[in-house]
Amino acid sequence: MEELSERINSLPVSATLAMAAKARELKNNGIDVIGLSLGEPDFNTPEYIKDSAIKAVNDNYNSYSPVDGYADLKDAICTKFKRDNNLNYKPSQIVVSTGAKQSIANLCMVLLNPGDEVLLPAPYWVSYSAIATLAEAKSVIIPSSIETDFKITPKQLEAAITPKTKLIMFNSPNNPSGTIYTEAEYRALGKILEKYPDIFILSDEIYEHINYGTPHFSIAAIPELYDRTITVNGVAKAFAMTGWRIGYIGAAEWISKACNKMQGQITSGANCIAQRATITALLEPVSKIQYMVDEFSHRKNLIIELLSQIKGFKMNRPDGAFYVFPDVSFYFGKTIGGTTINNASDFALFLLEKAHVATVTGEAFGNEDCIRISYAASEANIKEAVERISRALS
Ligand code: GLU
Repeated sequence: MEELSERINSLPVSATLAMAAKARELKNNGIDVIGLSLGEPDFNTPEYIKDSAIKAVNDNYNSYSPVDGYADLKDAICTKFKRDNNLNYKPSQIVVSTGAKQSIANLCMVLLNPGDEVLLPAPYWVSYSAIATLAEAKSVIIPSSIETDFKITPKQLEAAITPKTKLIMFNSPNNPSGTIYTEAEYRALGKILEKYPDIFILSDEIYEHINYGTPHFSIAAIPELYDRTITVNGVAKAFAMTGWRIGYIGAAEWISKACNKMQGQITSGANCIAQRATITALLEPVSKIQYMVDEFSHRKNLIIELLSQIKGFKMNRPDGAFYVFPDVSFYFGKTIGGTTINNASDFALFLLEKAHVATVTGEAFGNEDCIRISYAASEANIKEAVERISRALS
């Protein structure tokens, strides 16, 4: 008898991973699908990072690490936070996890009670609401659109706050819109949050280094918010280390202690070899990965130029991450080649089936008008994908 828990039954599957799996399946069946669904750099991990992992294997790093990470890795993370973000964290405030996703899950599990409200400025990363649901909290979505460059305003923020609000999750540079909150914008939102001392702030900065011009600002750098901001980061995106699975947080000590306790019961310490490699990734100059950022920047300009030639694609010009998030609502209600498109999910499915291009519906990110297209793909694939989309729609 198959009787799963209500917990898992109420959990949606990850739309990003589901779309990637679907594309993989079609490919295995001999269909030439171009995968623009997953946010994953198509570069290899840089040699100097790989070398440190190889050294770690040869140095016999094979035992359990401390649950919250090796001491010298936590030192390196403190150095990084100071160097890049002007944030002072002590090693006791750091917890290293199996990816930023686990860092976020730890945090939600230790902070949220059933019925607590979590504010999600939309578009938000697909797993935020699912993780909040797992923690039995309620997601409260604050919408935004292309007109505001997918950013929420202080007025919207204040209107969404209730006595039950416990946490707000920011993600800048943003997945899926690529938008970046400026220091001034964060300070204006911070002014509202200062009035509500019981609200915690999760600042997901995983795309920090994939930035094409707007200076990165960490909301924890606002002294009034430092104590209740949890800064999340990791090495996946900037260092092309998605599969290595290393994320981390900087937080008030009582929060990091609780996350450490949670992790101690669920996974223990993160992979020891990946932790050693992360020390190198974080301590070497950031300029060493600029070649990837430059390439992403070039591809961003290319994909925007190509997509904007397709009728009905409305886009912002993102300054970070490696996604575009076009509004495709122009096509809703239309029938193309016998297929009626009523919403963003239909549109993404249409692109997969008729153009063999995998994207992700905006509905998974709390926006029903858009689809997410990752341009972490080769120039040739980007060109071919847009060509196919254009052909399928005409
Ligand atoms: N964060 C990436 C994305 O949004 C990886 C997939 C995932 O973990 O959801 O595509």
